[in-house]
Amino acid sequence: MGLPLSFEFFPPKTPEGAEKLSRVRQQLYAAKPEFCSVTYGAGGSTQQGTFDTVSAILAEGVPAASHFSCIGATKASVREQLATLKAMGVKRLVALRGDLPSGYGMGGEFHYASDLVAFIRAETGDDFHIEVAAYPEVHPQAKSPEADLQAYATKVRAGANSAITQYFYNSDAYFRFVDDAFKLGADVPVVPGIMPITSSTQLMRFSDASGAEIPRWIRLRLQAFGDDSASIKAFGLDVVTDLCDQLRNGGVPALHFYTMNQSVASLEIIQRLQLD
Ligand code: FAD
Repeated sequence: MGLPLSFEFFPPKTPEGAEKLSRVRQQLYAAKPEFCSVTYGAGGSTQQGTFDTVSAILAEGVPAASHFSCIGATKASVREQLATLKAMGVKRLVALRGDLPSGYGMGGEFHYASDLVAFIRAETGDDFHIEVAAYPEVHPQAKSPEADLQAYATKVRAGANSAITQYFYNSDAYFRFVDDAFKLGADVPVVPGIMPITSSTQLMRFSDASGAEIPRWIRLRLQAFGDDSASIKAFGLDVVTDLCDQLRNGGVPALHFYTMNQSVASLEIIQRLQLD
């Protein structure tokens, strides 16, 4: 009971998508989220859609966090966007490096999320609550688990207030990460990112790209269901509710749901946990 919740959306590409997301948000607001966040396409590809969705959430009276990725950006462009976000009334940012499609190279004036966090702090003081990304199962491009942990600690030292993790289905990885980070002095709250399981193919695709591990027993069970989507959804609800329960019992500060612009699975998990 009483665990803060947040929901993540991606900016819709069509007017129909925007209408659908607006209905989804109203359904999710019943769970009284602490805030809702909106992703940001690396290289600024979704900037207008991100800012429009953030504005819509704020207009609905709910605190909104804008994701903000710096890959390919210049200091001048980031400065300009920070001013826009501040004028919109945004108080929370998820500061990221982001990924450019292969072949684009790095470019820009920022190399890592820690550079962005430091720049936001230097430019805007305490105007924004800054979240950063954390990877309990190690970021796929990290040189080593230790180097990744050090990189996380650098982001926190640069001025992050809290972190949201990549999703995972193994709570031990999360608790170990938090312990190790705290030992390095990176002692800000680390909120687990929760990905409901609603489709087998979608989950496999995301996990291959992001480095999030799907345990063998979950992968095999999902494969065995084939295209029986009712069984996949029922199994997914059981697995993810159990995960959230373990996390809650272990004392996590909050839960952040990757909603994929859907409400049903997140709400069902929240109801099963009696968090609403
Ligand atoms: P960083 O923290 O900069 O880390 C990137 C890599 O560099 C890691 O391997 C790290 O170990 C390494 N590294 C960091 N610092 C150093 C250093 N000083 N020297 C050497 N190596 C270093 N992507 C989007 O495009 N849009 C989004 O809206 C978005 N939202 C996300 C939200 C969450 C909660 C999470 C977990 C991820 C999100 N992502 C998003 C994905 C993210 O952009 C990618 O995972 C990206 O590859 C890394 O971003 P980062 O901010 O974690 O990078």
